[in-house]
Amino acid sequence: MRGVYFANVSGLRFPSPAMSAQDTQLVIRCPYCALGWDFRPLTPHQDGRFVCEKCGHTARPGEIAYLCTCRKCLRLTEAAVRLESRYLR
Ligand SMILES: [Zn+2]
Ligand SMILES: [Zn+2]
Repeated sequence: MRGVYFANVSGLRFPSPAMSAQDTQLVIRCPYCALGWDFRPLTPHQDGRFVCEKCGHTARPGEIAYLCTCRKCLRLTEAAVRLESRYLR
């Protein structure tokens, strides 16, 4: 019966306190600058956008169709379009 007891205890432990604390606060991080040593959160602006002060990347959490027009995102979109046209030919 010991195994059953341990299974019950581990079930009660989820979710861990550390994880639930992170979920309560909305923090959006820059996908380009988050890879370095400095995990940089985007700065919230009044118009609802989140802006990275380092590379200029923007995000709008409530809007899935929102497209960022920073240099790095534009380069990614160009590359994707080039790949697509290559496949179509
Ligand atoms: Zn950035
Ligand atoms: Zn961007």
